[in-house]
Amino acid sequence: MESESDIKTTPRGFHCVLCKVNVPNQSSVDQHVKGRKHQTLSNVRTTRKTQEQHSVFVSGIKPDISQADLVEYFQKFGTVSDIILDKDRGVFAIVQFSETDSIQAALSCIEHRMKGLNLRVKPREKKEFAYIPKKKCDLQNLQQVLDRLKPQLCQLPSVNAQMQYIESRFQLGDAEKKARNLLVQLLQEIFVEFFPDSQILQFGSSVNTFGIHSCDLDLFLDLENTKVFQARAKYTSEAAECMSDDGRSEDSILSDIDLSTASPVEILELVATILRRCVPSVHKVHMVSSARLPVVKFHHRELNLQGDITVNNKLAVRNTRFLQLCSGIDHRLRPLVFTIRYWAKQKQLAACQIQSEVLFVLKLKGNPSGPGPLLNNYALTLLVIFFLQNCEPPVIPTVDRLKDMACEEEECLIEGWNCTFPSQPIAVPPSGNTQDLCTLLAGFFSFYAKFDFASSVISLRAGRVLPITDFLCNKDNYNKDKDQEKNTKPQQSGPKLGPLNILDPFELSHNVAGNLNERSQKCFQKACQDAEKYCRSLQYLRKSTKGKMWGLVRLFTPDGGVEQTTPDELNISIPFKSFALPEALRNQLHVAGDDFRSLWFEKVCTCVQKVFQSVLRCELTLSAGFGVSEDLAADVSVEMETSSGSLNTSANDSLNSPTNAAQVGAKRRLSASDETSLSPQGKKARMSKRGKRELPYWLWVQKHSVWAGRRKVRREIIKDADLQPEGSCMDLETRVTDRIIEKEEELKEPLEFKVQPHVVGGTENTRTVLKLEPCSDRAGVLQDFVHFLDAFLPKMVESLLEKEAGGS
Ligand code: ATP
Ligand code: MG
Repeated sequence: MESESDIKTTPRGFHCVLCKVNVPNQSSVDQHVKGRKHQTLSNVRTTRKTQEQHSVFVSGIKPDISQADLVEYFQKFGTVSDIILDKDRGVFAIVQFSETDSIQAALSCIEHRMKGLNLRVKPREKKEFAYIPKKKCDLQNLQQVLDRLKPQLCQLPSVNAQMQYIESRFQLGDAEKKARNLLVQLLQEIFVEFFPDSQILQFGSSVNTFGIHSCDLDLFLDLENTKVFQARAKYTSEAAECMSDDGRSEDSILSDIDLSTASPVEILELVATILRRCVPSVHKVHMVSSARLPVVKFHHRELNLQGDITVNNKLAVRNTRFLQLCSGIDHRLRPLVFTIRYWAKQKQLAACQIQSEVLFVLKLKGNPSGPGPLLNNYALTLLVIFFLQNCEPPVIPTVDRLKDMACEEEECLIEGWNCTFPSQPIAVPPSGNTQDLCTLLAGFFSFYAKFDFASSVISLRAGRVLPITDFLCNKDNYNKDKDQEKNTKPQQSGPKLGPLNILDPFELSHNVAGNLNERSQKCFQKACQDAEKYCRSLQYLRKSTKGKMWGLVRLFTPDGGVEQTTPDELNISIPFKSFALPEALRNQLHVAGDDFRSLWFEKVCTCVQKVFQSVLRCELTLSAGFGVSEDLAADVSVEMETSSGSLNTSANDSLNSPTNAAQVGAKRRLSASDETSLSPQGKKARMSKRGKRELPYWLWVQKHSVWAGRRKVRREIIKDADLQPEGSCMDLETRVTDRIIEKEEELKEPLEFKVQPHVVGGTENTRTVLKLEPCSDRAGVLQDFVHFLDAFLPKMVESLLEKEAGGS
């Protein structure tokens, strides 16, 4: 049996070579072989084998040759059961026959002439079926595409030329657009039969000028006129007659549903039925009702195209028009967006659908981007536009300014949101900014490398960041855009805050990047930091005379050209997570406004001290600099550093007083500097007025390795006491520490260490940084302790903040 030969014995058990998984024992092997994955792959392998045995490889065709042409020609050798055509380049095809005899007939024919072409027909190569796990497969495909791009990019004279090449290489071609338009036309004709007066409109990358080969086809089924039609039909007998006159009898699909009350999901169910039954070549029709906007997805076989149909999506059609406009306002936007999308895809940051002929040949199914919350292309494009709004001078005007440039006829209100902007780019004066593409690309990375994502909300409407504190309070405050008064939409809730907040330019209560988690935000920023560093090197700017990788090639190559810096292991960061804060604290921070960092820092310091003292049982031997007077606390606020990473702790420090810290130290002096610095978001830094001051600090002693074996002890305690781990995190962790102290021996020499907290933000992500330094570490354990604290401390602080807020 084939399944048996798939299982190999290994020193640790078994390995299934088909599914590429390890299996520990014989009973698991039996289960695995019967399981869905193994069975599916096994079936695919059998099908592939049959296909191989029934097909020939044909080369020498041209892109204008269709599947029908090939069927017509090859059916003289036997019944053709399938044709797989290399769509992107159109140079080869695989012709599959129903009978194996037909292969011999085709191969023995000496000359194959079809439509003036000399075709070459060869037997299929026999390939061992190999399953490549999806993620690995995606990476391999990306790598293959890049490998083919490299030589072409390297020989171009400049980064500008490379960016233009990326744009022309990936953009949606005219033939592709034409094919899409024909499909839309066909859908329109079919849908109007079922939904009289309905309109099907394209939006998204197919038409927003940023489309690439094989990007999906986003469609909006506009049923506004159909609703009117249905209402008339319902209430006037003439219309009802008219309905039967033109064949739309009461049995039509429209009579099954009342559009004025039906939910989008109900309507889309009908849409799915129509697609399945009436549209040729459409398959894999399914509904995703859990999406923010329910959608029906389908695949068009001939065009190898993924399509999405939504209803109630006028805003997306409008924001597509907005992107088109931006593209027309400045010709640099497109190459910039294409390059950044490609870079983001290479770095696994964004869900670009850059498919290639390789993907086609492999018949890769599904989204090639793999799991995890990634930036979508719309969000990424908005980030590029926002950067261009913030260039000096701006390349693209703010949405508010665009609104002012529109004339009366262009006024547009959708669902209460003001979506007014000029219909033509000619209405927008050209930008005075003359930076070239190469400089703008480097500028994009530099802008976001230092961006304070944690405490900013990106507003393309205002063309600047809005402070997160405006959005922390529950009601009414999330929208301070001056355009707000024009928006008549009743506002119940603000945008869903997350680690990256980009307000939609029109639907101002929607965070376009609301799907991202902390990890994806961090990865994005880290990738920008790496890219920024690389863009400062000569390898970015100068073509290599020795044929080495340079310019965009290194930027796109995983880790290419970027020196990996080892993080300072004795620093621990506690990120400001606006979205995870308890309600009460959010309100306090909202009231604090610009001073929110000081207040948050104060709370964090209080929690940090509690964790060291009460949870980890460290002995506090000194606490200095926390007990400053109130005027000082208000005065220090947070300093906006002029460059990222310049945490000059003596000159640029900032602090506040944790209310319950042991007040040992005397009042500290403040920074003598009276300069002000400007953050990229245009905020004036608040510098302290007094003299230079040291960071506050604690001195701690720890006599036990309270970080070692915590998980095991925690499990034991939970088991013994039948405790819910989430129940009382602080109590549980304290008990874990106590049990370790009780059971384990003391360290040979106590660990004495200093912890200096400070808060950063403004030109980098807002966070509290704790700098740890050994005072005495003869047992050499501080590294281990810091490693443990790195994960433990932020989590504990988060739950303590929650607890404190609950108690207050
Ligand atoms: P591509 O399909 O090439 O990835 P796209 O711009 O078409 O790029 P989609 O994810 O298909 O991206 O989204 C289609 C359109 O839907 C967008 O152009 C935008 O108009 C709208 N859209 C997508 N995501 C969001 C979002 N998070 N918030 C608001 N509108 C969105
Ligand atoms: Mg799309």
